[in-house]
Amino acid sequence: MRTASIIGAAARPPTSYGPELATLVTLVVVVGLVAVYVWVCVLIARAAVAKGRSYRAWFAISFFVSPILAAIIIASVTPIAQVRGASALVPCPRCAEPIREAASVCRFCGTELEEDDFELDESETE
Ligand SMILES: [Zn+2]
Repeated sequence: MRTASIIGAAARPPTSYGPELATLVTLVVVVGLVAVYVWVCVLIARAAVAKGRSYRAWFAISFFVSPILAAIIIASVTPIAQVRGASALVPCPRCAEPIREAASVCRFCGTELEEDDFELDESETE
């Protein structure tokens, strides 16, 4: 009889949704917040990767230290590729040879390049 009553209590939902529902709601909210928190950390880690940083390291920093702090640091740091001058190749706006995006002088035609050149190149329609 005792076993049957325990099973019955477990299977049948309580008639009064008191502490059980409150616990369930709390659990859902907590799980939801944790999921959002982890998702934010993942986004920060992805942003870090986009800037040539370590995914795991920045996920750990945002997760264990502060996502806000990590986001601010990642937003303000210079991409490693740019620091090394090893960013993706872009065509020179003068001679169209592939040169590094961070280059200040084209290694083919010797034209001094400014960042504006690439922006002009993109917006040029004539
Ligand atoms: Zn050139």
